[in-house]
Amino acid sequence: MTPGARLPGVPLVLSGPSGGGKTSVCGELLRRRDDIEFSISATTRPPRPEEQDERHYRFVSRERFTRMTETGELIEWAEVHGELYGTPRDQLEACLGAGRTLLLDIDVQGARGIREQVPGAVLVFLLPPSAEAMLTRLRGRGSEDDETLRRRMRSALAELEAVGEFDYAVVNEELDATVCAVEAILEAERRAVTRRGTELLERASALASALRGTLTV
Ligand code: 5GP
Repeated sequence: MTPGARLPGVPLVLSGPSGGGKTSVCGELLRRRDDIEFSISATTRPPRPEEQDERHYRFVSRERFTRMTETGELIEWAEVHGELYGTPRDQLEACLGAGRTLLLDIDVQGARGIREQVPGAVLVFLLPPSAEAMLTRLRGRGSEDDETLRRRMRSALAELEAVGEFDYAVVNEELDATVCAVEAILEAERRAVTRRGTELLERASALASALRGTLTV
């Protein structure tokens, strides 16, 4: 992607601390709408039982991931809890180029990278409703031991501090309400004048010509 070139689709980033419910919100958004595409990150982390390759993540080796960073295949990448995660450039460019919405479930470092690299990105921060809820969600995964849980909590604390860098923040009290809020953000962003470019000017100018035409008859 040429820096500075804004593609017609909306890059919608959902970020925030682990345990904030990002994955559930993304899953529900994708279930409800067929006009949103999920950005399938590359990762070195092993798949969880319910996860499918090329659907939830592109599961790759460390060697393959390193090559991807060297060849510029990833638009941003970060180390999260000892594993590598990155956003593939090819899918992002194809999706946004076709005018579609790309939903990215990424950590705060990744959100910063997307902000720098992808013009027009919309950054939504998902806030857990309470410390208890965050802990329950972190524990509820069931796939982490105590040390991993402590590491996740430490990075969650650092991630909470980044909320001020975002465009929107949604408190994830209840899944349905949160998904509706994210949909409302998307609907508003799709109507942003700064995003519409020549299509909007042409539409307004066609309306003006038609209106003038009625005056002269
Ligand atoms: P998990 O292993 O639980 O699926 O994800 C761990 C963290 O990595 C989550 O905060 C998730 O949002 C983040 N993540 C997933 N994909 C990417 C990516 O492509 N880039 C970055 N920077 N973070 C990602």
